Amino acid sequence: MSRQHAPLLRWYRRVRRDLPWRRDPTPYRVWVSEIMLQQTTVATVIPYYEKFLARFPDIRALADSTEDDVLKHWAGLGYYSRARNLRKAAQQMAGVFPTDYDAILALPGVGRYTAGAIGSIAFQKPWPLVDGNVARVFSRLFGLKGRAKDPAFLKSLWPRAEALVHKTAPGDWNQALMELGATVCTPDSPSCGACPLASQCVAFKKGLQDELPLPEKARAPVPLKWDCLWIESGGKVLLWKRDDSDRLLKNLWGLPEKGRVDARPAKRLATPTHSITHHALRVELRAAVLKKGSSLPDATKWVSRPRLTDYLVSSLWLKLLNAST
Ligand code: SF4
Repeated sequence: MSRQHAPLLRWYRRVRRDLPWRRDPTPYRVWVSEIMLQQTTVATVIPYYEKFLARFPDIRALADSTEDDVLKHWAGLGYYSRARNLRKAAQQMAGVFPTDYDAILALPGVGRYTAGAIGSIAFQKPWPLVDGNVARVFSRLFGLKGRAKDPAFLKSLWPRAEALVHKTAPGDWNQALMELGATVCTPDSPSCGACPLASQCVAFKKGLQDELPLPEKARAPVPLKWDCLWIESGGKVLLWKRDDSDRLLKNLWGLPEKGRVDARPAKRLATPTHSITHHALRVELRAAVLKKGSSLPDATKWVSRPRLTDYLVSSLWLKLLNAST
């Protein structure tokens, strides 16, 4: 038993947030929530999670779905490979969630962190986990110099997480660490006065809460420009499926880019900007008409206006639809 266990667990059990995936932590529910929470905030995830679980309540429902249906329920959450991997993994499970560490880790889209979260929360296995929140708490609690998003620093924390994980309440322990990082030991101005670990915290004792973890290196966004076309005929709009080689939104339906179809661009409709991952994307959308006699590539589809949002799942397209209709 480490000296952090009792105060942190007591605190967590008293103040934990009532989140939908905590109410009935089956492996399936924990897994879906953890995948959604990668790169996305709790507040954003909650409505998506509830809608997703209503449509795909279990492994079989997800395995039997179409990719388009899953993507539609993911629309706006970004990082769409997460949704594809969920479906792919559900198909591999044949209705039963694996319980073995290596089998969970082998699921598409599941890394060491997610395997630790599923095992500890849903199966009560004493598996550790380290994410950005845990890295920040450890950095301050133990006075460790590192950047909370630096993969090498995160890697160096795993043995510590492993040594610390609670053997009989690993799910509560891991969630308590993450909860502390999310609500008390926050990136800016941590609430040390409300922290159950303050009396043991190196950063607090030395007044280094604002120095640790070390500041992240700023990463300049990569500028990118797309020239997109709005081609409409008889109430239907031409869509184009971006291919595997795309840097962004690959394998997703979008509006065709200039040069992908044989069309004549005309009036400019909108020029929104949009950030995707670390890209600063600028889109110029023009109305266009297909050239006479031109043939369309395979990866295109005419879709009626009311059904456009079934296909255009990225929030970029929703921005464009609002600007152009
Ligand atoms: Fe974080 Fe402050 Fe608690 Fe230390 S005392 S772990 S800096 S909130």
